[in-house]
Amino acid sequence: MTVSRWIGAHVSAAGGVQNAPLNALELGANAFALFTKNQRRWQAAPLTTLQIDAFNSNCLKANVAPEAILPHDSYLINLGHPDPIQLDKSRQAFFDEMTRCEQLGLTLLNFHPGSHLRKIPIDDCLALISDSINMALDRSSTVTAVIENTAGQGSNLGHSFEQLAQIIDKVEDKSRVGICIDTCHMFAAGYDLTSEQACQASFKQFDDIVGDKYLKAMHLNDSKTPLNSRVDRHDSLGEGYIGKAAFEFIMNHDATKNIPMVLETTNSEIWSQEISWLRSLTREEE
Ligand SMILES: [Zn+2]
Ligand SMILES: [Zn+2]
Repeated sequence: MTVSRWIGAHVSAAGGVQNAPLNALELGANAFALFTKNQRRWQAAPLTTLQIDAFNSNCLKANVAPEAILPHDSYLINLGHPDPIQLDKSRQAFFDEMTRCEQLGLTLLNFHPGSHLRKIPIDDCLALISDSINMALDRSSTVTAVIENTAGQGSNLGHSFEQLAQIIDKVEDKSRVGICIDTCHMFAAGYDLTSEQACQASFKQFDDIVGDKYLKAMHLNDSKTPLNSRVDRHDSLGEGYIGKAAFEFIMNHDATKNIPMVLETTNSEIWSQEISWLRSLTREEE
């Protein structure tokens, strides 16, 4: 029987990317997220052949397929930056992130859409983000750009499904763009997830406005702040304002089959328990 739910956590790549799959293995994960470089710096040394080979053999050892691995880009990158020089800097860094993914044989790259910094209209910023994605996809043939929904904190865009759909609309190669739904961000942005009924309604909105076929990954987090707070504070599953019902819904939702679903919850000490608990929620499948 094939395991159709790919569950893991955003694991540490301290000491080199090759350590990430080993950290996932220890958690009993069959998916994971990682940074392929220091997420708080612009520059990074290129990956070496030795690191790439070790990464690939450790993924085999951990039995995690490339499609179940979700690299996350640097927090410094703003693909909708209102200043042309800063925008170019972000784009160059993003192209480098794409290259690193390709070198590692990975097929997804998760990133936050961008921020207008209150200097340009929302529509203009969304258009810049689409342009940035087009430019990045032109430089790659294997990596899908996976836009993460945001909590809508500050001037961060991509908190509404309409904004996500607007970005995708201007992307030329629709086969290589998708969405990563972060449950904490979704809830903080105003989509109720506190009951099965609420989840059904909120995920139906996603399907209606963006389309389930674009769902390429999930970040599974509870929220330390209430519905529509527009504040991004992750919590352990079941400990925050979202509660447990959402995760039971997600573990049985058709659109979450065969996509990486990773924890970014606050207490890494309990990740393996959280992963086992999530696995136990999927009802018997035909
Ligand atoms: Zn993120
Ligand atoms: Zn996230």
